[in-house]
Amino acid sequence: MQTEFRNEPFTDFSKEENAQLMRAAIEKVKGELGREYPLVIGGERIKTEAKFESLNPAKKTEVVGRFQRATPDLANRAVETANETFKTWRLTPSTERAKILFRTTEILRERKHELSAWMIHEVGKSWAEADGDTAEAIDFCEFYAREMLRYAGDQPLTKIEGEDNRLEYLPLGVGCVIPPWNFPLAIMAGMTVAAAVTGNTVVLKPSSDAPTIAYKFFEILEEAGMPAGVVNFMTGSGAEVGDIVVDHPLTRFIAFTGSKEIGLRINERAAKVHEGQIWIKRVVAEMGGKDAIIVDAGVDLDEAATGVVQSAFGFQGQKCSACSRAIIHTDVYDSMLEKIVERTEKIKVGDPTDTATSMSAVINQKAFKTINEYIEKGKAEGGRVLTGGGADGEQGFFIEPTVIADVEPGATIEQEEIFGPVLAVIRARDFDDALMIANDTQFGLTGAVYTNDEEKLERARREFHVGNLYLNRKCTGALVGVHPFGGFNMSGTDSKAGGRDYLALFLQAKLSSTKIAASKSRTAEKRAAI
Ligand code: NAD
Repeated sequence: MQTEFRNEPFTDFSKEENAQLMRAAIEKVKGELGREYPLVIGGERIKTEAKFESLNPAKKTEVVGRFQRATPDLANRAVETANETFKTWRLTPSTERAKILFRTTEILRERKHELSAWMIHEVGKSWAEADGDTAEAIDFCEFYAREMLRYAGDQPLTKIEGEDNRLEYLPLGVGCVIPPWNFPLAIMAGMTVAAAVTGNTVVLKPSSDAPTIAYKFFEILEEAGMPAGVVNFMTGSGAEVGDIVVDHPLTRFIAFTGSKEIGLRINERAAKVHEGQIWIKRVVAEMGGKDAIIVDAGVDLDEAATGVVQSAFGFQGQKCSACSRAIIHTDVYDSMLEKIVERTEKIKVGDPTDTATSMSAVINQKAFKTINEYIEKGKAEGGRVLTGGGADGEQGFFIEPTVIADVEPGATIEQEEIFGPVLAVIRARDFDDALMIANDTQFGLTGAVYTNDEEKLERARREFHVGNLYLNRKCTGALVGVHPFGGFNMSGTDSKAGGRDYLALFLQAKLSSTKIAASKSRTAEKRAAI
């Protein structure tokens, strides 16, 4: 009998023994920076002529890992290998597949600080943010292993006389798993293991900004007993090899998390049927957000300001769930601005290996440039920068947490995803106005409302059109099993990662109906009645 699923606890780094473990992990990782990692197709380690480097965003000359740039031939080979492996992997009992995931979970637990230390170096996560990412990866593995056992069990059907009916969930085939860099362990691992535990085989193409952490996870899968060829590790340019694996006629599905632009491109390409292809490709695409927190008059402004600031600037605002718009009731607008600025100015921006750092650099040069352009655009469109706005790109891609007030509904920084530490603050006439502003974007991922009014809470449940709505709390920090995650409209296909519906996206249901001879049927009935 399974125990109940429980989330992996976060580490309390104020305890010296925990801080010591993390410091040791950071030292270990420092000693391993700059190594070269291969592609792995069907268990074979492959090197290519062309390489690329993954850099530390907080120390931009520091190479975290060197990677192979897959060629189109290798991309094709990865899909073909996955297709061959599918012939045996799909027949492996689901209990066996789940066991591999349970072992993966154990290894992740044993090495959690080391994995977090890799994220600290590769994507600039603070200790707490990296620890949260690792905990979520552990949760995904544990949760999906359990879920596979549930999907493999007897499925309830309405009984009729004279027939034995069974519904069984079968895998789909070869899947391309294309994760983003911002939850480089959790989302990458979650999509990969969901695809594999359900009996599919995978071509995993991690983000070029976070390939090292993906390789570390891939090695853990191998150590846990994942057979060669079930997950194939392929690094390289998304534009060069991404299209090839998406277009391949043997590709059966694509699990993508990333920007709206790439998600739409994949969706469109996947719709085209190529020669030899005998199915409609399934696309699971989780995309961007323009998430808002509404603050009503009469609430505890300190609590609301803390929620806004944590949601806006955790991991430099580079979360799809990050609050990028604070929509504030006019009666409390000025006091809220004061409290938001006060808290924002306390944020310590710096080297993420330092335990005191709560915010570090943004991911890369391109992001650094576009975020700065958005700040300029915000000013040009009438926004008032209250704090931040400065950037120092010398050592790393550091941008101060920036609060821009008096942003008009419809302004560029009120509509487009910035994906950086920039909060637009908008004044609302009343609650109706606030809800209208909140809903008036093409996205619908997360949102939050702070209000003391029960009726307004109910209205938010009914009218605030987002996949993940939080009431009187911050809008980030979804927990596996507790807050299944996914958005509406241009935020994606609402896959609800970490929820009971998720594995169904990687499965197809087969019904078999067997006629039972009348005599057998009667015997069966009698037996059932005893
Ligand atoms: P991105 O779209 O730039 O890249 C995502 C992945 O797509 C990367 O692995 C990239 O290499 C790959 N890629 C690029 N071009 C491709 C192509 N032509 N074919 C196939 N793959 C290709 O996104 P990003 O910068 O890595 O991540 C940030 C974005 O992800 C933000 O928009 C954020 O909101 C979103 N996100 C959404 C969720 C969610 O659950 N909705 C979660 C995390 C991040």
